[in-house]
This record gives sequence, C-alpha cells and structure tokens, in this order.
Amino acid sequence: MSLSLSQLFALDSLLSPEELEIRSTVRKFGEQRIRPQIAQWFERGEIPVRELAVELGSLGVLGMHLQGYGCAGTSATAYGLACLELEAVDSGIRSLVSVQGSLAMFSLHHWGSEEQKRQWLPRLAAGTAIGCFGLTEPDFGSNPGGMRTHAKRDGGDWVLNGTKMWITNGSVADVAVVWARTEEGIRGFVVPTGTPGFSAPEIRSKLSLRASVTSELVLEDVRLPDAAMLPLAHGLRGPLTSLGEARFGIIFGALGAARDCLETAVEYARSRRVFDKSLAAYQLTQAKIADMALEVGKGHLLAYHLGRLKDRGELGADQVSLGKLNNVREALEVARQCRTILGANGITLEYPVLRHANNLESVLTYEGTSEVHQLTIGKALTGESAFR
Ligand code: FAD
Repeated sequence: MSLSLSQLFALDSLLSPEELEIRSTVRKFGEQRIRPQIAQWFERGEIPVRELAVELGSLGVLGMHLQGYGCAGTSATAYGLACLELEAVDSGIRSLVSVQGSLAMFSLHHWGSEEQKRQWLPRLAAGTAIGCFGLTEPDFGSNPGGMRTHAKRDGGDWVLNGTKMWITNGSVADVAVVWARTEEGIRGFVVPTGTPGFSAPEIRSKLSLRASVTSELVLEDVRLPDAAMLPLAHGLRGPLTSLGEARFGIIFGALGAARDCLETAVEYARSRRVFDKSLAAYQLTQAKIADMALEVGKGHLLAYHLGRLKDRGELGADQVSLGKLNNVREALEVARQCRTILGANGITLEYPVLRHANNLESVLTYEGTSEVHQLTIGKALTGESAFR
C-alpha cells in the first residue's frame, strides 16, 4: 500500500468541511475541464481566456474571498486552496484567477469608489469582464517606484502616457488598473481598454506560462474623467497591498504544481523498470521522493498557517514574503528533481513536470522575485534595508 502526501502529513485534518468541499469542487473542475487540454494550449501558446473566465466565474473563484458585489466571500484559506488546485493543473490558469481576483478586483474593492465597484466588480466576479493590473514597466520591475508612466490633469480630465510590460491578461482585458505617477504621487486609474490611445500588444515567444496571456500596455494620451482615479490608493502602498493578496494565493498555488510533479514522479517510478526492477525500489529514487515530500508537506503546513493568520486579519507582508519565497523556490526544485526521475520522458508535454518547472520560473520572478523577498525578510530580521 502507498500513501498520498496528504495522508502522510495528515493535512486534511487541518481543514474545515467547507474548505474540503471547495477544494474538491475546484480540483474536479481542474482535472475534468483543464487537464485534458492544457498541454495543447501550452504548446500552441493559446488559451481561451474569455470562455474560461466565464466558467471560473460560475465556479465562484474570481474574487472569491472578497465580500459583496457578486463575490463568493469565502475564507482566505479557501481561496488559497482553490489556487492550489488550479495551479496543480497549470500556473497559467492560477495566474488568470490571481490577476483577475487579487490584483484587478481587490484593487477596485479595496481602493475604489462605490461607483467603480458597482460598475466593474459584478462582471469581473462573473467572468463576463476581464481585468488586468499594470504596474511593471520595461525599466522598472522590482523597483516600481521608479515608474515613468504618468497622469497629468487637463481641465477636469486625466491624461495618461507610458508603457507597462509583462501584464497578464493585458490584451484580453476589458478593464486595466494602471498605476501612474502624478503630481500628488503614485495613483491608480481604472482604464476601460476601449479608451482611445490604449493598446495592448501581446508578448509572444515565451518559454514559460505559455497557457497565459502576457502583454505590453501602451498608453498614448489616454484621456480619462476625474472619476477614473482610485480614490483611496495613495502612493506605492496601493499596488503593493494588492500584490500582497496575489502573493498569498501563490503561496498555496506553487504547492499545487509541486504536488502534481511529485505524484507524477512517484507513479512513473512505480511503473518504470530500470535494469531489473522498478525505479521506485531503488534507494536513490526513494531518497529523492522522501526529500521532496518533506518540502512539499512543510510548504503546506506553512501555507495553512499563513492562511489561518490571514483569516484572523493578522497576516503581515513579511510573513507573505516567507511563504512566497519558500514555497515557490521549493516547488521549482521539486519540479526539476521530478524531471530527473522521468528521464527523457520528463522533457515532453506528455507529462506535466517540465511544463510546471518552466511555469514556475515565471512564478519565481513575478509578484516579487526571490531576491526581493530575501531582502524583505532580511530587513525584518536585521532592521537594515539592503534594497539599494
Ligand atoms: P528586475 O527588477 O530587473 O530584476 C532582475 C534581477 O535583479 C532579479 O533577479 C531581481 O531579483 C534582481 N534584483 C532587483 N532588485 C534587486 C536588489 N535591490 N538587490 C538584489 N537583486 C535585485 N507585472 C505587472 O505589473 N502585472 C502583471 O500582471 C504581471 N504579470 C507577469 C507575468 C509574467 C509571465 C511575468 C514573467 C512577469 C509579470 N509581471 C507583471 C512582471 C513582474 O512582476 C516583474 O517581472 C518582476 O517584478 C521583476 O521585475 P523585472 O522582470 O523587471 O526584473
């Protein structure tokens, strides 16, 4: 008899019946709706975002832990579990949900006017509208405070100019939350993507997150009414708070990719015969599997702990950095190690491991690179800022 990772760590004992139910619903959706097609979408670099968004909206995972305006209002831990199950299939699907729910919708929900919330949130929750979040620029990623995109007053209007880079969902979005420099500091703007002067060319030729749309946002004299500004977000705290929400989902999500790799590798090792016996019966293979299971299991314990802190309103940004740094870094190591167990088969799209590993390269970089999270943790522990 063999145990699953979840059984070995008795992980389910840490979840409520409602959380287990939500997890199982999202897992079923991922396995039945996404899994059969994901390799093909990844290979083609194309994903039916609009169709999927409506289905994800019906599933209730878009802006899932936000209250009101058509959002499901679940616990943060339940949202994390949904991210985990979606990323078990592909990080691109979890990215779609993170950007829609945690970046675009959270920004509107947390920083928006009542009118902005009413106009956009119900459609974004249903998946009938798609949102994106434009912070990064070609020359400013880890240091968004250097951004060049700016908004200037012109009578009662705002006029935006600048370029954003690497924006998930950019070319399929109906609305973009764009961060820009103004005379009063960095502010957020709600930009309907049909506004004249706005364009979003897609970035092709990616070797990672191929089942996700990534785009540039170009703003050339984009004229918006005064009411387009997010009234409650002042300075970099606005976008950074929103990023904290998406990072939280990634703490769980990365474990989904790792779990999928580990399960694939264990199954493969059990059926593959090398020399004269099962690959799983070799001590070296078992050492790899045991070490990986430890990391993925510990990652779950960390995620669940951080989830409980968030549900109690006690989760800090430094703690989010602990989770994002550890779980993504370990997930990537697990994916690479699992690839070795699959030998040459591991490099194909027939198995998910190299697809996950390639995706995790992006996940390691976006939402704060590993180095940025190391610096955040280092600052918290030493009191010294080493960012510049
Ligand atoms: P840089 O900031 O140039 O970093 C390059 C290297 O320098 C990294 O290793 C970094 O850790 C290191 N470094 C930087 N600063 C320091 C320092 N002080 N000390 C030591 N080392 C340092 N952005 C959005 O706004 N919206 C999105 O929807 C979005 N989606 C994305 C989707 C994908 C697929 C990818 C790949 C990126 C996405 N991003 C998005 C952008 C992402 O957030 C940035 O790529 C990330 O912040 C890193 O910025 P950069 O790529 O410019 O790297």
